[in-house]
Amino acid sequence: MVMEISCPACESRKEISSISQEREISIRNERVRFLEEVRKCSKCGEEFLIPGIDRDPIEDAFRVYRSMHGLLQPEEIREFRKKYNITQGELAKLLGLGGATISRYENGKLQDETHDTLLKMSMNCENLRKLVLNSKDVFSDRKRALVLQAINDNTGQMADCLREFITLNLEENIPDEYRGFKKFDIVKFTNAVLYFCKEGIVKTKLNKLMFYADFQHFKDNIISITGTQYARIPFGPAPNNYDLYYPTLNRQGLVAIEEIEFPEYSGDKYISKQDPDLGVFSDGELRVLATIKARFKDATATEMSALSHEEEGYKHTDTGKIISYQYAKDLIAVRNEAAI
Ligand SMILES: [Zn+2]
Repeated sequence: MVMEISCPACESRKEISSISQEREISIRNERVRFLEEVRKCSKCGEEFLIPGIDRDPIEDAFRVYRSMHGLLQPEEIREFRKKYNITQGELAKLLGLGGATISRYENGKLQDETHDTLLKMSMNCENLRKLVLNSKDVFSDRKRALVLQAINDNTGQMADCLREFITLNLEENIPDEYRGFKKFDIVKFTNAVLYFCKEGIVKTKLNKLMFYADFQHFKDNIISITGTQYARIPFGPAPNNYDLYYPTLNRQGLVAIEEIEFPEYSGDKYISKQDPDLGVFSDGELRVLATIKARFKDATATEMSALSHEEEGYKHTDTGKIISYQYAKDLIAVRNEAAI
């Protein structure tokens, strides 16, 4: 059925068409340009919308504003909620928002920036799990079990949850000299960890192996393997934020953590629970990983720590700061050891 549309001004039914035109409006004190879609009568020039049928142009302006500011779009909120079988009302309650808040956002209202941050935090499965576990009076016991099950099902897929986690925890992922001219690659990072932890390894040593593998590959190819930033910490170079990554790998069931006692201290030993997927690496990357693993096979964490303190990158970087890959050219620990 073709709907008869008549011009509200001149009542002509013949010459109505849809047009897109650029418009600029002010949203939260900012000029936003967007494409406005309206109907136009070519007889009298009247521009109009049909209430209840045409979309309110302000919704399109909001979409532009959201993407300018990295805010969630309505469908992203809806998809997130549905993935875990959570209703609009339950999500609002879970986050401590007014009962109709989520419903309004999903229907196109522009969200409060604080609420947007809150939503993004809750989209990380680890955070969501905590929220659901600690919630009171939001779900029935049965519903809570269902939601937790949905979270577990989603967490089962290794990279997804981790990727979300990384996106939320690293605001910037720029392939600059601090990442060895490569964007952080969570899949390669995870598989390199699995490769080094196959036979079990202490955390301090793992940190050094990761550092040497990335820096050695950069030295040879001017690009790192994983795009990881390495921070200068007292025990030597270590993947920046490793205290966020490793426990996540553990919760994902990829790596087991055992506490072991040494004469002078205790430390965490990491053991892979699954084989690394070596297919994600290039031949050159695999060669470097194997070289580094073999080179330091018998080195203790203490020895590796001492060795790494001699590296130029370590000596010339302040504690807590990121070590530039430009220092890779001066790497001493693997000098003349390339052919193994
Ligand atoms: Zn008209």
